[in-house]
Amino acid sequence: MNLILLGAPGAGKGTLAAILIEKMGVPSISTGNILREAIKNGTDLGRKAKAFMDEGKLVPDELVIGLLKARVAEPDCSKGYILDGFPRTIPQAEELDRIAKIDCALSLEVPDEVIAQRMSGRRVCLKCGATYHIENFPPKAEGICDACGDPIVIRADDKPEVVQSRLATYHETTEPLVGYYRAQGKLKAIDGTQGIENTVKFAAEALGIEV
Ligand code: AMP
Repeated sequence: MNLILLGAPGAGKGTLAAILIEKMGVPSISTGNILREAIKNGTDLGRKAKAFMDEGKLVPDELVIGLLKARVAEPDCSKGYILDGFPRTIPQAEELDRIAKIDCALSLEVPDEVIAQRMSGRRVCLKCGATYHIENFPPKAEGICDACGDPIVIRADDKPEVVQSRLATYHETTEPLVGYYRAQGKLKAIDGTQGIENTVKFAAEALGIEV
């Protein structure tokens, strides 16, 4: 199954994707994680993306589409994948429709006030991409990634002023994708405010999979 996770930054797409990869046996692809990795490694892509990301703006379509195409062509994607953070614009969605058959777009619905509260407690592992929340989803050892043991940090773009800019970008540019996939009959919307366990339960019901 090729699944898209839609929702505002901080809606819980990354956390849900990490759980669904186990249940569905397919990889998740986070364009945000790939871009952060590129910045860390000082690649050409990273250098081009950094200024946009630091300001909470979207990276230009051609850069993100290029990296997505290369990633879905890798062998581990042959049985399907979960897209977390792609597409984020209508042109990205149109390009995706040209290269893949999308089965479902699952939208995590979370109001802006809840997002702002969540982002202030969010921590991320820059090495493996795992995400945590200091209250709702803390790592087992404070400040340390459960998965790889690296220190977890606040993302530069999780600062409150950048969060407001990312939410504005989301409503303007990414939210229209809800209508795009509804028109294709592929949209499933779930409540993302009821805790991780319920979000997973609602997602499984919507996708018709066992949890
Ligand atoms: P995320 O980790 O998904 O919240 O993404 C972090 C940042 O990476 C975003 O604020 C954008 O600057 C950039 N980014 C990630 N995915 C995309 C995308 N599909 N299109 C454009 N920019 C993206």
